[in-house]
Amino acid sequence: MNYRSKSREHLKAASEQLETGSDSALKYAALELRMAMEAVTYDRALAFKEEFPTEEYDTWQPKKVMAVLLEIDPMTDKDSMLAFGLEEEYGVPAKQMTSLGTEEVLNMSVLKKHYDALGSFLHIQTIKSTKGGKRVDHEKLRKRCEEIRGYLYKVLSSPVFNSTLGVFYSLKCAECGKKIRKRVLRRENTIKVECSNCIASYRVSDSGANQSVWEHLQQEIECANAVCKKKIVVWEKEIRLGANWECLDCKGKNTFVLGVNYEKALNR
Ligand SMILES: [Zn+2]
Ligand SMILES: [Zn+2]
Repeated sequence: MNYRSKSREHLKAASEQLETGSDSALKYAALELRMAMEAVTYDRALAFKEEFPTEEYDTWQPKKVMAVLLEIDPMTDKDSMLAFGLEEEYGVPAKQMTSLGTEEVLNMSVLKKHYDALGSFLHIQTIKSTKGGKRVDHEKLRKRCEEIRGYLYKVLSSPVFNSTLGVFYSLKCAECGKKIRKRVLRRENTIKVECSNCIASYRVSDSGANQSVWEHLQQEIECANAVCKKKIVVWEKEIRLGANWECLDCKGKNTFVLGVNYEKALNR
């Protein structure tokens, strides 16, 4: 199945519905647009087939596939194209930004937002909202449909539509055992990866030959009882104001608090 041409077909059908200019055609346009977005999603999943085996998604609903794609791809969890600070985050030279920028055309996070937004128009109104005098806002729906049409058009005409540049890293989470997958743009990147299932987080760096080093973002913390000092190991995400634990040795309670350290000036 060529999902990309499938997506184009649905986009064309959506356009035809939109161009009739009739309000009652909007829901059909919305439906076609949703299907176009689903096709784009499946196509994206196929492009990631190395890291995302077919058995895992061939029966999945688009929403679930979108969620996994969002997890894998570091570029997809950015909210907007403009806010995406490539240079800062990855140290990519400015001249490379243009080519990477075009790949951003397919942003799963934007796609998912549009997809969810349309979903609410495709169901009959609840009894409550009908009673409350609420009506389908055709103007809003039309605007949303036009926006999605423009977005999909851009995505489908992008020359690097499905490039999977970069390197994939994966690891079984040390804390919960879930498989974590992440794509990075360039080998020399060090990235922070969080398990979507638990509190674990890692610093991942490339060690060449398709190998990666996963450093646990953990810290050793001593019991604050001066005569005990029993150490525990915690994930960085567990260190937050007010979090506490009972010491295994002295049974005392330790709590993370804010502190200020004072040092006297040397020349006074
Ligand atoms: Zn985990
Ligand atoms: Zn203790």
